[in-house]
Parts: sequence; structure tokens; C-alpha cells
Amino acid sequence: GPAPEGPDQANAWLDSHGRKFGHFIDGTWTKPGKTFASDNPANGEKLADITEGTTEDVNTAVKAARAAFKPWSALSGYERGKYLYAIARAIQKHSRLFAVLETMDNGKPIRESRDVDIPLVARHFYHHAGWAQHLSREFPDAVPYGVCGQIIPWNFPLLMLAWKIAPALAAGNTVILKPAEFTSLTALLFAEICERAGLPKGVVNIVTGQGETGQAIVSHDGIDKIAFTGSTEVGKAIRAATAGTGKGLSLELGGKSPYIVFEDADIDSAIEGLVDAIWFNQGQVCCAGSRLLVQESIETRFIAKLKTRMASLRVGDPLDKSIDIGALVAPVQVERIRDLMKRGVAEGAVVYEADGPVPAKGCFLKPALVTNVSPANTLVAEEIFGPVLVAMSFRTPEEAVALANNTKYGLAATIWSENINLALDIAPKIKAGVVWINGTNNFDAAVGFGGYKESGFGREGGREGMSAYLKPAWEKELKAAPAA
Ligand code: NAD
Repeated sequence: GPAPEGPDQANAWLDSHGRKFGHFIDGTWTKPGKTFASDNPANGEKLADITEGTTEDVNTAVKAARAAFKPWSALSGYERGKYLYAIARAIQKHSRLFAVLETMDNGKPIRESRDVDIPLVARHFYHHAGWAQHLSREFPDAVPYGVCGQIIPWNFPLLMLAWKIAPALAAGNTVILKPAEFTSLTALLFAEICERAGLPKGVVNIVTGQGETGQAIVSHDGIDKIAFTGSTEVGKAIRAATAGTGKGLSLELGGKSPYIVFEDADIDSAIEGLVDAIWFNQGQVCCAGSRLLVQESIETRFIAKLKTRMASLRVGDPLDKSIDIGALVAPVQVERIRDLMKRGVAEGAVVYEADGPVPAKGCFLKPALVTNVSPANTLVAEEIFGPVLVAMSFRTPEEAVALANNTKYGLAATIWSENINLALDIAPKIKAGVVWINGTNNFDAAVGFGGYKESGFGREGGREGMSAYLKPAWEKELKAAPAA
């Protein structure tokens, strides 16, 4: 039978590094400096000590990435593609280790890291290996940016790394990537994979740390482009910090995506889709379908069915394969969500949580359904980034569109209806980077993903994602030309 998803292999890997990590710069591991702890949110146990990156560390990484840029960008796309294929194969080969390590570090159910995160990571590297091969034909007049600083969040640690590193490398850039402080481990394992795949040193540099390390990357003169995924608040600060510097910038920020169910929808499918939309990864998903908009005529029936389904969701040990909802990433997130809930309730919201066991220890929250809210309620207006769904109703399609667009965000939306004409009429009226019809959370490396409004700008994936790491060749020629 299949081997159990035990933590042994991941623990052995952590032990092989003495559970203390430096950065991965210029193809080697630096000596650990001042460190902070990375804990398992399901049980509070410390997994490893992670080095806090200093301005000096960032300097060293930029030097390495700068030196590596010339030979790396001079390789043919075909040659770079070979490295990306090698990385993709190595990720598949070690997929169990990656999945278990991700679940231990982040708290997400092993079913998700095993069946969604890690396979998508491999897919991303395969896909971009293909782009590298066809680069000169597809983008004949483009050149890479140079050195890219990439800062990522903790909700999909390795997948966000793949979204950033795969296209950057395919295009011929070199990178300095900073994982989020709660979840550095799979990025560090990835560094080891690069080393073993023989990737030229300095092409991928992993510098760990917290917000200050991110700031050091953002403000470094030797970096040509910043790619950031994270909160809207930090995104705004980064936009201000890079303004006028000439650095390229792309921002993938928060969301409050509507999930619209029309009265003619296949209700059972819409319920299953909704469970995925809001409770996948404990709701810590930038495009989570966190605002249910249901047509008034079916509201009572739909909510009753949803409550029944909520009662069957199992909350518990993320390494248990039968678990639906694992741990949130860290105690501070649990506190943040509880505070938002308190505010929403004080403003009149009613919260429903199904009965059922929740582990006494660890960062666990029950799935929650919030009703009795107006658009102004904190829980409707603010991104909660947790297992909390807010429900509102509408009467007409026009009202659904107005409610859907009544948000500062614009990342994703979902529409359920058996009337495809209605769905296709509504979809383009919703200001969101992606609109799913009778489905949700469908991602692929070949499709651009990104937002409007306060959800950011720039696209990741597909052709648009490649062009985010390229610039027109004439820019390079202008730079090379002597000043008049
Ligand atoms: P965050 O913005 O606090 O942190 C993201 C990253 O930025 C981390 O690596 C962090 O160390 C770093 N950082 C923090 N302050 C910084 C600063 N001043 N300068 C530079 N870097 C800094 O966000 P988070 O709490 O890690 O992630 C949750 C948020 O990310 C949510 O709001 C979510 O919607 C968003 N998100 C968006 C997408 C997307 O694709 N649009 C994907 C995932 C998450």
C-alpha cells in the first residue's frame, strides 16, 4: 500500500541542516546569523531557526545575482529550459518530502499540499521550461530585466515561489527571493534542489527574513525589478518606495471575491464549489470566494444546505489525509481573524459555526458563515484571509453585478447558473482578473492571474506572465548608448 504521510522524512531533512538555516547565496549556504523560529502551527512545536536577512546579506545576494546575470542571460532559451526541466523533475521526485514539509510549516491539509500545491509547482516549471525554449521566437524583441527581487507570502509558500522564479529564469533573469517569515522551509529545500540540479551559482538566491529584509530588497539600487505578492498594505508601501526609481514592479495583493449563485444553479455543485472557494487552505487564499451572493428566491434553501455541508467538514491534524481544514499559519493570524469577527458582530453580523471537534492546541478555527450583514459591515468590506464566509442576497442580475463590484478589490469572481447566456452576460461586467463559471479555483500555469484595483497589477502565468519579466530590447540599447 502507499507509504503513510508521516513527518519522518521531513524531520530527517531538517536534522540534516541541524534545524538551523543560513541563506542560499551564490550557490552556497551562508553561516546562520541572527535567527527567528519557524513553528509548526498545528502543534506549536519549533521546526527550525531561520536567519534574519540583513542589508549586507541582500548586498551579497545582489552581487551574486548580478555576476550570474550575464552568463545566464547569454545562454540560449533552449539551454535555460533544460535547467527548468531538471528542476521540475526534481520537484516531482521529491514531491512527498516537499508536501509534508509544506504542511508541517504552513498547516495546510496534506491532501492539498500533495494534490494541489506541489503538482502545480512542477507544472509551473515544466510550462516555463517550454517558454524558455520558444522565447526568441515568441518574444523576438525582448530582453530580461536583469536582477529581480521577489517577495512572497506564506499561504502557498512553494507555489508562490514557482510563480515568481519559473518565469523569471525562463526569461533570463536572476533572482533574489525572500520567502515569508512563517514559511521559509520549502524555499530552502528548493535551494538545495537547484544546487543538485547544477543550476549555475547566483541564478537563484534565497534570502530569508521578515519585513525589514523585504524592505532591504525593495530599496536596493542593484535590483531591476520587484515582484511582490502579499497584503495590499505592504503593496502600497512598496509602490511608494519604488516610485521614481525606474525599477519594474508587479503587485499581486488581496481580494474579497464574490461567489454568485443564481436561482437556476445546480445547487449541489454550487455548494461543493463554495466549500472549495472559501475553505480551501483555511480561507487563506487571495482569490477566496469569501462573499456569497445568492439569489433571494433560493437563499433559505441554499443556506440550509450549506450549513449541513459545513457540519461534515473535518477540522484537525493537517498531516491526517482525511482532514478538510487544517491549521492557520500562525497564532497572530488567528487573533487577527477573531478581532475582525468581533468587530463584525458588534456591527450586527450573525455568525454560524457547525458543531464538531476542533483540536485544543494549535492554530485551528472552525469554518464560519456570517449572515445579517450590509455591504458596510467590516466582515464584508475587509479581507479576512481565514475560514469565514459572508453571505448576502440579491434579486436581479443587475443587483448581483452591483454587489459584486462593490469592493475595493478585483481579483476573482465565480458565477453559478445553468443559463450560460446569463453567465456570459454577467462575467465581463464584473471587474476581476478572473471570472469562473460553474467552477472555481481553476488555475493553470498557462493562464494569466492577477487583479484590478487594490488587488494589484501585472499578471502571473501564461504569455502575460512571461512579458512581466521581459522588456523591449531598445531599452537596453538606449542604456548602452553614450550620453549625448
Ligand atoms: P504581507 O504583505 O505582510 O507579507 C508578504 C511578504 O512581504 C512577506 O514575505 C513579508 O515578510 C514581506 N514584507 C512585509 N513587510 C514588508 C515591507 N515593508 N517591505 C517589503 N516586504 C515586506 O502579507 P502576508 O500576511 O504574508 O500575506 C497575506 C496577504 O497576501 C493577504 O492580504 C493576501 O490577500 C495576499 N496575497 C495575495 C496573493 C495574490 O496573488 N494576489 C497571493 C497570496 C496572498
